[in-house]
This record gives sequence, C-alpha cells and structure tokens, in this order.
Amino acid sequence: MKKILFVTSEAHPLIKTGGLADVCGSLPKALAELSQDIKLILPNYQALKTTEKVRFLCSIRVDNRSVNILETRMPGSHVTVWLVDYPVYYNYPGNPYIDEQGEPWPINAERFALFCRIAVEAAMDRIHQGWKPDIVHCNDWQSGLVPALLSLEQDRPATVFTIHNMAYQGLFTGSTAATLNLPGKLWQPEGLEFHEMLSFIKGGLVYADYITTVSPTYALEIQTPEFGYGLEGLLGHRKESLGGIINGIDLDQWNPETDPYITQHYSATTLNKKLLNKYELQRRFALPVNERIPLLGLIGRLVEQKGIDLIIECIPEMAAMDMQFVLLGSGDKGFEKQLKKLAELYPDNIAIHIGYDETLAHVIEAGADIFLMPSRFEPCGLNQMYSQRYGTIPVVRKTGGLADTVVDTLPETLANQTASGIVFNEASSSSLLEAIKRALILYSYPDTWKKMQTNALKMDFSWQRSAEQYLALYEKLEADTQLSRRGD
Ligand code: ADP
Repeated sequence: MKKILFVTSEAHPLIKTGGLADVCGSLPKALAELSQDIKLILPNYQALKTTEKVRFLCSIRVDNRSVNILETRMPGSHVTVWLVDYPVYYNYPGNPYIDEQGEPWPINAERFALFCRIAVEAAMDRIHQGWKPDIVHCNDWQSGLVPALLSLEQDRPATVFTIHNMAYQGLFTGSTAATLNLPGKLWQPEGLEFHEMLSFIKGGLVYADYITTVSPTYALEIQTPEFGYGLEGLLGHRKESLGGIINGIDLDQWNPETDPYITQHYSATTLNKKLLNKYELQRRFALPVNERIPLLGLIGRLVEQKGIDLIIECIPEMAAMDMQFVLLGSGDKGFEKQLKKLAELYPDNIAIHIGYDETLAHVIEAGADIFLMPSRFEPCGLNQMYSQRYGTIPVVRKTGGLADTVVDTLPETLANQTASGIVFNEASSSSLLEAIKRALILYSYPDTWKKMQTNALKMDFSWQRSAEQYLALYEKLEADTQLSRRGD
C-alpha cells in the first residue's frame, strides 16, 4: 500500500471551476478503492462546500505566519482531506483564482506559494501526524512549487506533476520571487525563471521526478512549439520522464441505463430505444420531430480552443444538408451572437441554447446521433467519452485526448470491431465539413452505424483503469527512489 499526498487547488464536489476538479475528485477515490492510503490537500477557500465534519488538525508556522490545517473527508468517501486555513489568503468570496471582473486576485503568487509551502511541510511530516507519504502527486501550476521545494529536502518522497492544461502556467513578475522569499538556488533559468518571470508550472516541469499529462497524444504535442507555449524545449529534454494517462469518466453519472435526466433508458442491446430520446431532444429545441433525419449535437465552452469558429463557418452548408444541429454552450460573446443569428436564419435545422445546463447536456448526449468536437487542442476532453458511452458517434479532430479515445471508422477498424467515431486531421472548416459528410454517409447504412455504436458503448473509460496506470507509475518511482538511495 502506498501513502500518497495529492496536492490540488480544486476537487469536486468541494470546489470546482473546471475539469481539474473532476479529475481531482475522482482519481483519489479510485486510488483509495485500489486500497491505497491517499490524502488530499487544498486551500480552505470560502467557497469550498462540504457536508462532512471539519475539525482542527494542527497549527504550523512558516515564513512568520501561523497557519492552521483542518481535516475533513471527501463527501461520501473515506478519503481524508487536509485544508490549509489561512483566512487572509483564502477566506473571501468567489472564484479561487479571479475576481468578479475576471482579473486574477492580486496576491495569487503569495496565496499559492503559501499553499505549496504547507504541502511540503505535510509531505515531510513536519506537521507531526506520523504519516509521511511515499509519493506527492501535484496538479497544475498552483502546486508547481511543491516539487521545486521538495527537491531541496533530504529523504523526500517521490514527486509526480500532472499537467491538465499547458495554457495556464502561473506566471508572475520576476520581483515576486524575492517577495516570496524563495530559496535562491531555485531562481535561475534552469529553475523557476522563465524569461525573467517567475513560472510556477516550471517548478513541476523541472523538478518533479515524473510529469504526466491527461493523454498520451497531448504528452507528445506539448513538446512542439504549437502546444508548448515556449516550454517545449524543457519538455522535450524531460521526455524520458513524461507520459500521458487518459482521464476516466464518472460511469455512474453518465450511464444511459440509469440516467435520471433522460426520457428513455437504453443499453447496447436496446439501442433502438435511444430514438425516444432523439424525439425529446428535437422537441426541447423546437426542431421538426423526425426519426430519419440525422441529429448532430455539440456541448462546450464557446471558445476558439473548441473550434467554434469552424462550426460557425460550416453552418450555412450544414443547414443546406438533410440534417439537424443543436448546440449548448456559453463563452465568447461574439460567438454567442453569431450562433444565435444563424439559428434564426435556419430555424428548421439549427437550434442554439446559450447557457450552462447540466440536465440539457445529458439530454443531448442521449438524444443526438452524432456529436461534434472539432477542438484545436484538447488535453483530454470528456464529451467524446460521454458520447461513446451513449452510443452517440463523435466526430473529432485528431488532437490530444480526442486522438487517444476515438477510433476512426475505416474498413480495418470496422473489421476488427473498434471503429467508434470519425476522426479528421486539419483544423479547417473544409476538413470538418468533409468529416460531417463522412458521418452522414455512414449514418445512412443502419447496420454499419449500429456496429459503430456497439463498439463505442463497449469502450472502457473507467477511473479504475486510469488509477491502475497511476499506481503502476507510483510503484516504479518508489522503486527508483529506493535504488538511488542505496546508490548514495
Ligand atoms: P473543458 O474542460 O476544456 O471545458 P471537457 O470536455 O474536458 O472540456 O469538459 C467539459 C465539461 O463541461 C463536460 O462535462 C461538458 O459536458 C461540460 N459543459 C461544458 N459546457 C457546458 C454547458 N454549456 N452546459 C452543460 N455542460 C457543459
């Protein structure tokens, strides 16, 4: 059994701003189910919500500050959670990272540096709990200083750093490094310095024993200038210690056999019942109710990353085809406006719902025939996995987690029963349109389509599968640490 300290700035259902929280809510539970001894550590934000009891654990002084550590559990599980309680830094309302205007909180560097220092104290058991982890697993830039600071310790645990999205790096002015009183040894271009700025993410990328990302393809992509944001050289240099592990999905929440939000439950053996969900989706979006016409769906943040501009370019041609398209999302105001206009122009084919609506997301996954995900980059992506679990065939661009979780439909993949979607290469509207046409042709052959749906429904996207891969990594790292200690 491994002792694992899991360092994260968010975990569902305690506190969530994005996909990071889903991973950090699910993975520790899956590791606990594999009999591992895992504890989470998070900042005690005002917005953090729990139904479990919270108790005082201990107090610790770092940098002349007295910080409390509170103890609770992940709701509905036995996984212990330690909350770093320092009200001056964490006890104010709203989002953990940004204010109401969308601007980063001015003291973010101080807030997350303190969080990292406390995580290091916990990792070295200087909080005197008689629990010293074998592995410290850090996530995204907010925890980036942990591997850096731990690298200066004797007899330290092995460290893993997971990149959930390279687009967020925790960059601050160079003078911040002095304010934070960071050990001088770390302040160098081969350390935390990035073009004279202080980079939190580099703390993970330079000093962690192993780096993971949330898909094998994204692990390769971030070693190129297009996806590496200037850190591709460093990542290439560390390629022997860099790998990808695909996220799982919550199989209870996304299950067409039990989903409380959908009209008709169904499974791989009762796929014909999916049709009732299609009627419901057409009704909800005020489109003509029609069994025969292929129904395409999209759910997501309306941002360039998701290829929304490509969709907008395609809509006039899509509207001229024999198909319907529903979209649920919010984000860029320009995209929202253009999409609404297009829906007004083509009311029989195109319907748009602007907003965030969990229930409607389930209704779309269950009711659509085809799901569009033409992302420019996608570290892992969830919707393509939900879609396959609902027998809704995804059309995806070959990038990141999309490339790793959707099997393109070709004669050979049909023959070996793995074909589960349509994959296209180029981030252009013409390539997307070609892929849509390919999907529509396949849809017109019901036997082939049913085979694709059955293949999609068979895919294993369980968290257990991912947790087993993380565990294998922890075991390898611990063995390496022991070997190198013996060598010392
Ligand atoms: P990202 O984390 O980049 O936004 P993912 O595909 O990894 O993309 O995860 C997005 C999650 O948020 C999915 O569960 C998706 O269904 C959900 N989601 C995004 N936009 C909406 C929306 N407007 N309404 C409901 N759910 C949404």
